[in-house]
Amino acid sequence: MASLLNKLSLRQLNKVLKKVNSYSDKMKAMSDETLKHQTVLFKRRYMKGESLDHLLPEAFATIREASRRVLGMYAYDVQVLAGIALHKGKIAEMKTGEGKTLVATMPLYLNAITGKGVILITSNGYLARRDALEMGQVYKWLGLTVGIGVKEDAKESMDTDEKKKIYHSDIVYTTHSALTFDYLLDNLCINKEDKCMRDFYFVVIDEVDSVLLDAANMPLVISGAPRVQSNLYKSTDYFVGTLEEGDYEEEDRQVWLTPRGITKAEQFFGVNNLYTKDYYEVLRHINVALKAHFLFKRDEQYVVKDNKIMLLDKSSGRMVENTKLKCGQHQAIEVKEGLNPSSETRAMASITYQAFFNMFEKKSGMSGSVIEDRKEIKAVYDIDVVEIPTHIPIARIDLKDSYYGSFEEQFEASMKWLIRAHEKKQPVLVVTSSIEMSYIYSRVLLNHHIAHNVLNAYNVAKEAEIIKNAGQLGAVTIATAIAGRGTDIKLSDEVKQLGGLLVLGIGRMENQRLEKQARGRAGRQGDPGTSKFFVSLDDEIIKEYGAPSLKSYKNVKEITKKHITKMMDQAQKNYEISAYRSRNRTLEFDSSTSAQRTIIYTLRNRLLNDEIDYDELMNFIIKENIEDFFIADPTKDEMQRFILSHIEYHIDDTLSYKKEGLLQLAKERFLSKKKELEESNRYNQFMRIAILNALDNAWIEQVDYLEQLRATIGLRRYSQKNIIFEYHQEAYRAFEKMMDHAKKNIMKNVMLSSIVEEEKGTFTVMLP
Ligand code: ADP
Ligand code: MG
Repeated sequence: MASLLNKLSLRQLNKVLKKVNSYSDKMKAMSDETLKHQTVLFKRRYMKGESLDHLLPEAFATIREASRRVLGMYAYDVQVLAGIALHKGKIAEMKTGEGKTLVATMPLYLNAITGKGVILITSNGYLARRDALEMGQVYKWLGLTVGIGVKEDAKESMDTDEKKKIYHSDIVYTTHSALTFDYLLDNLCINKEDKCMRDFYFVVIDEVDSVLLDAANMPLVISGAPRVQSNLYKSTDYFVGTLEEGDYEEEDRQVWLTPRGITKAEQFFGVNNLYTKDYYEVLRHINVALKAHFLFKRDEQYVVKDNKIMLLDKSSGRMVENTKLKCGQHQAIEVKEGLNPSSETRAMASITYQAFFNMFEKKSGMSGSVIEDRKEIKAVYDIDVVEIPTHIPIARIDLKDSYYGSFEEQFEASMKWLIRAHEKKQPVLVVTSSIEMSYIYSRVLLNHHIAHNVLNAYNVAKEAEIIKNAGQLGAVTIATAIAGRGTDIKLSDEVKQLGGLLVLGIGRMENQRLEKQARGRAGRQGDPGTSKFFVSLDDEIIKEYGAPSLKSYKNVKEITKKHITKMMDQAQKNYEISAYRSRNRTLEFDSSTSAQRTIIYTLRNRLLNDEIDYDELMNFIIKENIEDFFIADPTKDEMQRFILSHIEYHIDDTLSYKKEGLLQLAKERFLSKKKELEESNRYNQFMRIAILNALDNAWIEQVDYLEQLRATIGLRRYSQKNIIFEYHQEAYRAFEKMMDHAKKNIMKNVMLSSIVEEEKGTFTVMLP
């Protein structure tokens, strides 16, 4: 079925390809000047109402010819096919080495004709810069501007003007995290002039599976001021240390207390019901302590270095700099390891990549390994995946996997392959499923006096340099599956004669995609090459996700029985299912956060653009606040306090202590304030600042609360459905409360703020 659909999509794309090809000669015959001028003509035609679909054949033919002249690369037909698919908002699965970088230029050029700005995302800053610099030559030649959203040194910052210039370029190359971060920052600024971005229109995501699937579980969070240090970490850590089997349960990287565990907790902390609001903080701390004890393992998820917890990146095994787990999880692990808890910051703004990329009018992507996950991509992002045929048939031989009872056997067998190939100088790339394993290979190779490279650099650029040379005569390279992704391995003729690159995959990996990426290192563009995987019962994934009965085969040297090897492969499927569930959970939780964020950001934008009728808003807010206040039948004292904190710093003797009196007073005060501000032409600006401040403060609190809530709610019930439902309900209640709070603070800010003059006619608003 899937392949039939694929054929149908390809047929449609082929029709358009023919049209593109029909313009080839015409563009070829043009002088450089005429060809360059096409951009202006396309823009004009677009402005006059011609659609992009209609412009496509000529525009694609134009940039195709321009790339030939500028870069010496003329897109193959299959590349044009993929380019059309991207323009149609699809994901193109194209094998490694097929030239995806060049593919993206065509849809980016076409869509940039609109002047709305188009974006290319890649998985790291090194690739973004590399591709922007190379492809940028063509765009510039055709009269378009190109911006790069990441600095060479990631620590270097950019000022607003620089950022603005980048995001107002016709085409921007950047990473998903840089773009998302800037988006959140853009929604924290108080002046329209400080906003750097335009509305999101068209995005092409390169290595799309790594961005949309692998990064989907980690919402991007901007942290703010430190939180007051909690003293609950130590007691909850101690408590969790006393738990026995049966007090807690674990599944899918979630852990929670059983009823027996809950009773123990209530006894330990001397409370009646742990699940009431009063013990929210205790519950939250128990939750992170549980996770610290049962889900986070030292030297797997983190290491302790210089009395600090350093997180490990699972796929590369690298230490992640400057990143801490959120919501107290980091502190709980610190305490478990006997360290003092470090200071905890509050979340100020956060968004998941799902929510972020779904803001684009049109999104598309490319990858060498995404077809397996097309259902999830379709469900979450509503994008179809098309499999594009290769330019030259694949010549790589993927040998059958071999299975072993233990790591020793697996290791020995793979070393035999390595040494045999190395003796005839065939280059070998060993792809391991963990960083520790790569060290073991390295040590043994040293003992054998075999020169080799290990990709454990802390720097992507260096890794790219190493992997580039992995196809040289006699080269031996050891890497983890994602290291050096996106870099081309070119072969010399001599190496091709030897059979090309030999890829040895060590261990079942977390998912099929990683294995496909590993194999795809060999056999690019019709090159010869071989790949083979060595699997054993000691593989992390099989130990953790495989059937327990597998253990009885530990002493078998090589496992050849079909049903056993199938069971071993099942472990990977189990892991993939659990990863999928976990992404899905993130998504389900995110829907209410997303809805709330949209409301607030829309409101913010209207404020920034002065699209709000302030008089109407204030009339409404004053009325609501005062009515709310009178519901509780306030005393005279309380009314005076209300006036002092919401209307003016002074109480008039003649005031009538009735609702109408207060209403009238507030309205009068507001009107006279307005008149004063209008005289000096500062009304709008003042209102914007006062309202934004109240709104932002309330929203930042809410973001932090939702983050915490998500971390805690898992503990409450057993069934997933209920957790999500409860989360949404509580999130909604909190939002209503937050809006009430914002309403009060807006009134307070507007009524009680004053203006301080500064030099050159500028001023500051002094908030109460
Ligand atoms: P991918 O991202 O699909 O793995 P790349 O974009 O890195 O592939 O391209 C692989 C190599 O192929 C690069 O060296 C690139 O310059 C080259 N290449 C791509 N397309 C063409 C083309 N049409 N003609 C010649 N070389 C090409
Ligand atoms: Mg690439």
